[in-house]
Amino acid sequence: EHQKYIRNFSIVAHIDHGKSTLADRILEMTDTVAKRDMQNQLLDDMDLERERGITIKLNAVELKYHSKDGHDYEFHLIDTPGHVDFSYEVSRSLAACEGAILVVDAAQGVEAQTLANVYLAIDDDLEIVPVINKIDLPSAQPDMVKKEVEDVIGLDADDAVLASAKKGIGIEELLEKIVHEVPAPQGNVEDPLKALVFDSVYDDYRGVVLSVRLYDGTVEPGDKIRLMNSGSEYEVTEVGVNSPHPVKRDYLMSGDVGYITASIKDITQTRVGDTITKVDNPAEKALPGYREMEPMVYSGLYPTDNAKFGDLREALEKLKLNDAALEFEPESSQALGFGFRCGFLGLLHMDVVQERLEREFNLDLITTAPSVTYHVETTDDGVKDVENPSEMPDASEIKSVEEPFVKATVMVPNDYVGPVMELCQDRRGQFDTMEYIDDYRVNVVYYIPLSEIIFDFFDKLKSATRGYASLDYEISDYKPSDLVKIDILLNGEKVDALSFISHRSFAASRGRVIVTKLKDIIPRQNFEIPVQAAIGAKVIARTNIKAYRKDVTAHLYGGDRTRRMKLLEKQKEGKKRMKSVGKVEIPQAAFMAVLQTD
Ligand code: GDP
Ligand code: MG
Repeated sequence: EHQKYIRNFSIVAHIDHGKSTLADRILEMTDTVAKRDMQNQLLDDMDLERERGITIKLNAVELKYHSKDGHDYEFHLIDTPGHVDFSYEVSRSLAACEGAILVVDAAQGVEAQTLANVYLAIDDDLEIVPVINKIDLPSAQPDMVKKEVEDVIGLDADDAVLASAKKGIGIEELLEKIVHEVPAPQGNVEDPLKALVFDSVYDDYRGVVLSVRLYDGTVEPGDKIRLMNSGSEYEVTEVGVNSPHPVKRDYLMSGDVGYITASIKDITQTRVGDTITKVDNPAEKALPGYREMEPMVYSGLYPTDNAKFGDLREALEKLKLNDAALEFEPESSQALGFGFRCGFLGLLHMDVVQERLEREFNLDLITTAPSVTYHVETTDDGVKDVENPSEMPDASEIKSVEEPFVKATVMVPNDYVGPVMELCQDRRGQFDTMEYIDDYRVNVVYYIPLSEIIFDFFDKLKSATRGYASLDYEISDYKPSDLVKIDILLNGEKVDALSFISHRSFAASRGRVIVTKLKDIIPRQNFEIPVQAAIGAKVIARTNIKAYRKDVTAHLYGGDRTRRMKLLEKQKEGKKRMKSVGKVEIPQAAFMAVLQTD
């Protein structure tokens, strides 16, 4: 009976189509948040999300809705990220729901992640409620977009909700649709507890806070629970819901989405995807859980202060609770000391992890250039996975190297097919298919080395198509390539953390670009610094960083003291996120220089 009035749903869309704004309106319409507390993109509660205007984490809230049918409903809304790097968050949210609201921008139409995300929802058998958003825009073409939803996705969009999240149009209609079209949860309160952990976060006071969806049974404080996969057992200290701030409850029951705390301090024992049951009346089988994510790119993370290695380990472990796709293991570098090789789902993910570590855990970090994993066959018939370019064996020891390729789907108006193909070809892409999805848009599919995608590909794609192209990709397989390792030498010393892998045909040009970039990025010192790029012993590009002429503070000695202090302060600031390698100070930007190709 309780479940009859519950609706669990997610909002999915391509990035920027208005998910978070729509969630705001829904929170307002249901009086979940008082008007005076309302702020834009309320569910994007991380500082980082607000600054960048993107959703990084899934977010679950409970809201009450009084429907026109006279009943009060309990909605659990899960807002999700749209960027391809975070599709893992999307699939986890969907597993906790019966329905998905599909938001499509009325001016942009269906885009690559609209498709990718809606397919995830279809795979999970969710009821999909299409919403055409931003109908207030002069460039909105709701009828055309409706047709696109039908033709491209194959969903009946006849009575799709026409909405403007910005102006608050269509929101009530949508809420009614959720009541009538999204199925109520089907669990059984009498059955043994089965709750899916779909997210978790570490709280200094309460320990691990588990976000859960209850499928069967009930849970309340004092219950002894077991995480079925890890086998660990705890006593529940608190249960509740987010509304959007945590609100304690006496119990949670089947159909509910909420949180559980159990004074869990050992963070290695809780994994998202695990199933919670009770110790004295356990469920027989765990819920299916999630597919393990394979990292796409790796990079090294090093504390600028070597003494912070332990702090970084602790921070990574805590962050992993809240970011299940993050992987890490210790590594060391001659240049940078002790750090971790971390695996990410993409560059945005990498960027976000670094920023969260710095902000939430107060660390100063150096990130090395991202690299993919290469399969290397050596002359002694060994095979090894190389995730760190500096570990690539010498050319004389290599029999063959394989690199990961992705199947990249670029959705683009037909006017821009030429530039897209040119770009893909430039990046060693192998043409697969080209298909019209409607009268004016085309899906262009290429197999492209992943390493070429992580270098500025997306930026180049956007500028080649005036922003009209959208991209989705998935790992396909490994293929042999003619690859070489390029080392960078500063002041005659090889800096292992700057080594990178390149296709042989690009080696000379990328070597030149890099040394020029480094020359601009690395601050002058009081001696001249030669910068060289080399393959083995052969130098392929070189330049010099000139010595500066005199100490910037020298002429101020004995002079204006405050001015001198200020200058020294400033220099100190500039030293943050720098690493001394030999006698040379290298700023963070130098490690990313290899990401730019021109
Ligand atoms: P998300 O990435 O899908 O979460 O998208 P956001 O909710 O962050 O919205 C992206 C941008 O579109 C923001 O600048 C919003 O103000 C804007 N936006 C969202 N909904 C509407 C709408 O209905 N009309 C107009 N004109 N702009 C909107
Ligand atoms: Mg958002």
